Amino acid sequence: MKAAHSLSDLVAAGLMTPEAAEAASGVADRYAVALTPYLLEKLEGTPPGDPLYAQYVPSPEETYTAPEERADPIGDVARSPVKGIVHRYPDRVLLKPLHACAVYCRFCFRREMVGPGGEALSPDELDAALAYVRAHPEVWEVVVTGGDPFLLSPRRLSYIVRTLSDIPHVGVVRLHTRIPVADPARVTTELLDALKAPDVATWVAVHVNHASELTEEARGALARLAEAGIPLLGQTVLLKGINDDAASLEALFRGLVRNRIKPYYLHHPDLAAGTSHFRPTLAEGQALVKGLRGRVSGLCQPTYVLDIPGGHGKAPAAPGWVQPDGEGGYVAEDFTGATHRYRG
Ligand SMILES: *Cc1c(COP(=O)(O)O)cnc(C)c1O
Ligand code: SF4
Repeated sequence: MKAAHSLSDLVAAGLMTPEAAEAASGVADRYAVALTPYLLEKLEGTPPGDPLYAQYVPSPEETYTAPEERADPIGDVARSPVKGIVHRYPDRVLLKPLHACAVYCRFCFRREMVGPGGEALSPDELDAALAYVRAHPEVWEVVVTGGDPFLLSPRRLSYIVRTLSDIPHVGVVRLHTRIPVADPARVTTELLDALKAPDVATWVAVHVNHASELTEEARGALARLAEAGIPLLGQTVLLKGINDDAASLEALFRGLVRNRIKPYYLHHPDLAAGTSHFRPTLAEGQALVKGLRGRVSGLCQPTYVLDIPGGHGKAPAAPGWVQPDGEGGYVAEDFTGATHRYRG
C-alpha cells in the first residue's frame, strides 16, 4: 500500500466515499493531508467515528473557522528571533528543522505551517539556528519539533544532536514526534544511534491520543526507544469525540505507562483554524482531569495545560484540590470528593 497524500488517495484506499471527498475538497485545498501505509492498513474498515479515523481523515467541519480561532494560535511567529527557533522561556527553545510530518493530524495546532510544501531549514539556516543556541548560554534545553524531526535522515538528526551536545550549556535535547505511532518501522537502529551524543541527555516525547494507537508495531518501536536508554514522555491532546471521556483517558494513560512512557502533558486543544469540532470546554476538561485522580495512579497523571494564545507560554489548567477556606486555613479535597480542613 502506498502513502495517501490527497482525498482521491483516501477514496482509492476505501476510507472515503467520492461524495465525502467532494464535501471535504475545500479542506484539502487549505490543509495538508497524509496517512502512512501503516496507518492506512490499520484504518481499513473503520467507520468515520473511529478515534483513529477522526484524527487523520479530513471532514467538511474543518471549513468552519470560529471567530476566536487564529492562524498562529500559540504565537510561534511572535517569539521567533531567527528562522527555526522559538524562544519563549529563558532556559529553553524550540528548534524546528522542518515543517513536514508523516501524517497530518486534523486538529494540528501548527496546521497553517506544516505540510509537504512546508519548508525545511537549509543547511545554512540550520547552522544559524544552532548558532543562536550557542550564543545564548541561558538555553539549557532544546526542544526539537516541527513538523516531525523523526522524518529527518539519521545523518541530519545526528548532526543536530551532536552539534547541540558540543554546546557546553545545553544539557537536554528533547525531540517531539508522532512517528512511533504513525510509522513505527521508521524507528530503526540507525535512527536510535542518531539520537545519542556524549554530552547531552536525549529525551523523546511521543504524541499519542488514543489507546488504539498503541498497536503491536507501535509498542515494538516504543520498546526499541526505551531499550536504547531513552526516557520517554507522552504528549496528548484532549479531543472531543476521540478521548474526552474518562474510560478513554484511563486506557490511554495506563497504556502509555505500560509501555514505559510517562504521560507528560494533556493539552487543551489550541485555537487553530477549523478545529472547533474537536474542542471540549475547559470546564469539561477540568472535570475529566479531576476524575482521573481516583481512577489511575500518579504515574498515569499528565499535567493538563493550556497554551495561552498570543505566545505567553503554557498555564497548568487543572482544577484546584486545595483551596483557602477564608479563615486563614485550607480545605483539601480527596479523590472521592470529600473535603477536609487543613491547618498549618
Ligand atoms: C511548550 C513549549 C516549550 C516547552 O515547554 P515545557 O513546559 O518545558 O514542556 C518551550 N518553548 C515553547 C515555545 C513552547 O511552546
Ligand atoms: S504530527 Fe504534530 S505537527 Fe504534525 S500534523 Fe500532527 S500535530 Fe501537527
